Amino acid sequence: MKNSRSLFEKAKRYIPGGVNSPVRAFGAVDSTPLFISRASGSRIYDVEGREYIDYVSSWGPMILGHSHPDVIRAIKEAAERGTSYGAPTDAEVEMAELITGAIPSIEMVRMVNSGTEAAMSAIRLARGYTNREKIIKFEGCYHGHADSLLVKAGSGVATLGIPGSPGIPKGLAELTITLPFNNIEAVKSAVDMYGGDIACVIIEPVAGNMGVIHPLPAFLEGLREISESHGILLIFDEVITGFRLTYGGFQKIAGIEPDLTCLGKIIGGGLPVGAFGGRRDIMEKLAPGGPVYQAGTLSGNPLAMAAGVATLKILKENADYEDLDWKTNRLCREMKKLFEDKNIPVCINRVGSMFTIFFTQIGPFDFNTAGKSDTKLFGRYFREMLANRINIAPSQFEASFLSFAHTDEDIEKTLNACAKALENM
Ligand SMILES: *Cc1c(COP(=O)(O)O)cnc(C)c1O
Repeated sequence: MKNSRSLFEKAKRYIPGGVNSPVRAFGAVDSTPLFISRASGSRIYDVEGREYIDYVSSWGPMILGHSHPDVIRAIKEAAERGTSYGAPTDAEVEMAELITGAIPSIEMVRMVNSGTEAAMSAIRLARGYTNREKIIKFEGCYHGHADSLLVKAGSGVATLGIPGSPGIPKGLAELTITLPFNNIEAVKSAVDMYGGDIACVIIEPVAGNMGVIHPLPAFLEGLREISESHGILLIFDEVITGFRLTYGGFQKIAGIEPDLTCLGKIIGGGLPVGAFGGRRDIMEKLAPGGPVYQAGTLSGNPLAMAAGVATLKILKENADYEDLDWKTNRLCREMKKLFEDKNIPVCINRVGSMFTIFFTQIGPFDFNTAGKSDTKLFGRYFREMLANRINIAPSQFEASFLSFAHTDEDIEKTLNACAKALENM
């Protein structure tokens, strides 16, 4: 029979680190990855047939749970009609209508194949539109692995503790100004110094890639005001938060309209998808109508559009986000109590159905304070939870997610597992 350990050994011979995306390697939690054979609803199964309650959710996309029957049916039906044409389709128009209908600041949208592409293309468009070269990003925010955006980034870069990455030209990295999250004074200073050279400021409006960090009141409003008054485009990277916290973006909850928005994850329903969109006058600068070039052989792929459209329609018609919020709140509240009973100081940062358990007393509000968390202790907790068949993100600096498929019984089981895990710590 296949097992994860031998598959990982074999994988390491042919695939760098044995994985196709670094955080999957479980290095930060002193463990080796589970190889997965299937997933359904709130459950995921490894190649040895063990069942886990899954809070990784493929790192965010699976808000309906795994293998939702309507999504699977849509993919199958689309596949019967062919998997790629390299020509426009009805489904792309439907997708664009759904996205622009849900997020008013997006007047036009372009589909791509990943969140990385979405952020990379949005940055190029912002530079092309403003005719400026510098960009502002925030420490610990992750916007995919494009060169300009990998400076002081979150996600795997934070997990591995590398400040940037070799291979990024110094000249390009110098154009990226990196500031602390939730610090509007730092933004003011940077804009005072470089205002006329700054094309855009890009931000995860709720940070998910240094663990979950909520924006402080007035921080995003401040960004909107400062950017607008200096002709700087404001880009919300809602690759995680898009359709995660409400039907639409976090911008709807915050009441702020960015100039451009990046999407991904949920809008692909589990297939490789990204999108970026925003103000019409900016989007019209894209080729073929405008001079800013951007393209993709598989962009708007029929299978991906089928999965995405099916997902968005279910969310639009049936999703009770309030209930999901309530459920996640209950899970986090009860878990916090279990930790308190054991005198293990933790702070659980939660926004809607995304949360991170930080092993620290003071609630993190930026990358620096998130970094104060005891990652060794997190690793132990992670391994104990996995042994009790609960799959959470294998890094302190990531979010865990609930889906609409998670039941009260799942939460009960998770709390029991958590109590058992803590007994062994
Ligand atoms: C996941 C993520 C990306 C990158 O998306 P990929 O599809 O992995 O390229 C970009 N921005 C944010 C906020 C993300 O969470």
